[in-house]
Amino acid sequence: MENQGMQRRPHVVLVPAPLQGHLSPMLELGTLLHSKGFSIIIAHTIFNSPDPCNHPEFSFLPIPDNLGDQTAAAANLMTLIITMNNNCEAPLTEILAEFMKRNDQHDQICCIIYDMIMYVSGAVADKLQLPCMILRTSAASAAAAYEHLPRLNAEGYFPLQDSKLQDLVPGLHPLRLKDFATADMGNIKDIIEISAITNNTRNASALIWNTVDHLEHTALALVQQAYPVKFFPIGPIHKMAPPSSTSLLQADSNCMAWLDKQAPHSVIYVSIGSIAIMEEKELAEIAWGLANSSQPFLWVVRPGSVRGSEWIELLPEGFKETVGERGCIVKWTPQRKVLAHVAVGGFWSHCGWNSALESISEGVPMICRPCFADQNINARYLSEFWKVGLHMDGQLDRVKIATTIKRLIMDKEGLEIRQNANAMKEKTKLSVAKGGSSYSSLNELAKLILSNQLPK
Ligand code: UDP
Repeated sequence: MENQGMQRRPHVVLVPAPLQGHLSPMLELGTLLHSKGFSIIIAHTIFNSPDPCNHPEFSFLPIPDNLGDQTAAAANLMTLIITMNNNCEAPLTEILAEFMKRNDQHDQICCIIYDMIMYVSGAVADKLQLPCMILRTSAASAAAAYEHLPRLNAEGYFPLQDSKLQDLVPGLHPLRLKDFATADMGNIKDIIEISAITNNTRNASALIWNTVDHLEHTALALVQQAYPVKFFPIGPIHKMAPPSSTSLLQADSNCMAWLDKQAPHSVIYVSIGSIAIMEEKELAEIAWGLANSSQPFLWVVRPGSVRGSEWIELLPEGFKETVGERGCIVKWTPQRKVLAHVAVGGFWSHCGWNSALESISEGVPMICRPCFADQNINARYLSEFWKVGLHMDGQLDRVKIATTIKRLIMDKEGLEIRQNANAMKEKTKLSVAKGGSSYSSLNELAKLILSNQLPK
């Protein structure tokens, strides 16, 4: 299928969600399908749109989303998802119908693949009588856990009582009730409702997962019981696809030169991803925790991620002088390159699923400090089940931070975690190599789309 020359390529339309952790895997899926002989059309919102210059091999169809950058940036996640879907249904239908009108019957769209949170694309596919599939960019373990939310709610677990937060959830080892903490996502009814909408596979022929079978075999099997469609775990997608630029923010590559100067496995890399924010008080605790740990650190403070400030204006007085060259603070890194650097000894992460997969792929042990939603569940699996990280739970304070960093980077405990992470890295390498589970799954996926046997 690779070199089709002037032959017509079947068109696949990809509908990414305009959030960093969703956009990257979708664009990389596009690269993978393009290498299998498909022509790729990215139907994207104008808010947080991908840069077409980074992907000259794709066509781009902007969806007039009527969101406005200001409104979108200010909205909470739930409101953004709902507004985005409401606003996109009609224009997405229109631009795809227009595309179909322009092309003859031999040059038609063979499938729409949409991000699970761009759920309205399922209705659009219905209307246009096109086959569709869903890309899941979060962990199967999280999906399996959220399947239990309606039951837990019916059994009276919500709102969560303080005295029960540490209780294990029956049948969901290693999760505790507090791992379902929902305060930051809205009330439980909203969450159950939005989960039901995003988990509705409607007419989808398959679910494509950014995960690896060796990591989530059991969770995938559990979720499969709820969704009787084909599953394709093809992750980590960034390791399947050749490196490409999918970042919405400009990375500061000076940090790579700083890393070159540090001793192997000595640096703690700190990032809370593209969405989470922190309070000034947390900034101060993190700063002094890093300072007191005595380890070198690379810290991403995303502009706007500290409430009430533009960037690092609220860093405590004396901090910069105390740490000097031992600390490197940047606005955004080329994270995958950072994690692959030999100087990095640990990743303090908010446990977004991409970050988790990226860390596992490079064998970097983690400090798990989730901020919201599925990150809580990922953190628990990373630390208690896959044992590739330490869960830094509870109140954030400088003493705990410094101790946890030392435990991970210096102690025997940390060495064991690093060994587990390295074992995961090797297994993951095998999964994406020729004949591995993700490699084979991608081939099967391409075959299925080409078969023309997808239900419309
Ligand atoms: N990322 C990056 N540079 C940074 C911080 C994050 O490139 O300085 C990337 C990271 O590699 C990952 C994505 O941003 O691919 C974040 O996705 P994730 O699912 O981890 O978290 P989210 O941002 O969705 O909360």
